[in-house]
Amino acid sequence: MPFFGELYGNPSSAYSIGAQAAEALAEARKTIASLLGAKSGEIYFTASGSEADNWAIKGAAQALREKGRHLITSKFEHHAVLHAMESLERDGFEVTYLDVNENGIVDPAALEKAIRPDTTLVAVMLANNEIGTIQPIAEIAEIAHRHKAVCFTDAVQAVGNIPVNVKDLGVDMLALSGHKIHAPKGIGVLYIKTGTRVRTLIDGGGQERGRRGGTENVAFAAALAKALSIAVERMEDNARVAALRDRLADGLLARIPYARINGDREKRLCGNLNISFEFVEGESLLLWLDKNGICASTGSACNSASLEPSHVLLSIGLPAEKAHGSLRFTLSHENTEEDVDYILDTLPGIVQRLRDMSPLYNSSMARIADVAVRG
Ligand SMILES: *Cc1c(COP(=O)(O)O)cnc(C)c1O
Repeated sequence: MPFFGELYGNPSSAYSIGAQAAEALAEARKTIASLLGAKSGEIYFTASGSEADNWAIKGAAQALREKGRHLITSKFEHHAVLHAMESLERDGFEVTYLDVNENGIVDPAALEKAIRPDTTLVAVMLANNEIGTIQPIAEIAEIAHRHKAVCFTDAVQAVGNIPVNVKDLGVDMLALSGHKIHAPKGIGVLYIKTGTRVRTLIDGGGQERGRRGGTENVAFAAALAKALSIAVERMEDNARVAALRDRLADGLLARIPYARINGDREKRLCGNLNISFEFVEGESLLLWLDKNGICASTGSACNSASLEPSHVLLSIGLPAEKAHGSLRFTLSHENTEEDVDYILDTLPGIVQRLRDMSPLYNSSMARIADVAVRG
């Protein structure tokens, strides 16, 4: 809040409130760098996770285009990554989209097979935003580097939820976003390891070491540093959140037939539950949950305007009709056992009401009853 008031100065100006803003910006950069195991000079503020994804991918691909034009990513990345890749394809690049296994994990062996001498960039996310599965990025970075390619990871879902250290991961670039960790919407970071070739994003003044011009959003940068510090401290409480999530998962599986959990149950973020219910539409479930004060999602929140089945669920092999009946619950440290019990009391009745109206459900149940009677 002080950066909207008494410390309103522009960090690039010479007067003293400007210098105070510059100091706050430097402090925020330093805090974020140290929490990620990076140097201050490797932290670049952006206006979103999407911007950081686009910058990393297009910036590196274009900077290295004389070396090669082959890029590798996975099929279940966020659309900020997938659509950036598609934009590069229209620009003459070739992209390989790695398969994801049925548990929602990218196999490093698949990367080993796909990588070529002209591959310049490998981009695989650290944790998936719909099913929460955590990817073997250290192995992926090692393979990329052995083949002289740059490695980028979209860590928007991971940062603040699991320990993230750029050195341990061995990546050259990493993206994160503020609003996923309770900072304001409209601030992100791209980590760019010293020496990594990436094109300038915005030509302008000398801000962000000349690579992203534009007067800095001091208040949001300070907020992001604070939010990340709190999130990292709260990771101590992850086991409690995971226990709540498991209570929700097991309770729903016990109460609702024809349900399944999507994504590996161990290698996933502590707060993520993605669950499919056959014979119902996720969108109808969402509306009824919302009427009961429960905020859930189908697919990704960014996608809720489209009725396409989730590309993430399709990538792990779910048929379209099962992908349609999926819900994502994201629990945080602020959720309680009462919250979970309220969902367990509310959701089974909603699913049953919707199934009772579904011709497909009724004909399937009649067929199952018929088989049972005939033995
Ligand atoms: C939310 C999200 C983004 C986009 O971040 P914004 O700040 O909303 O642009 C990118 N990648 C992943 C994995 C996300 O979950």
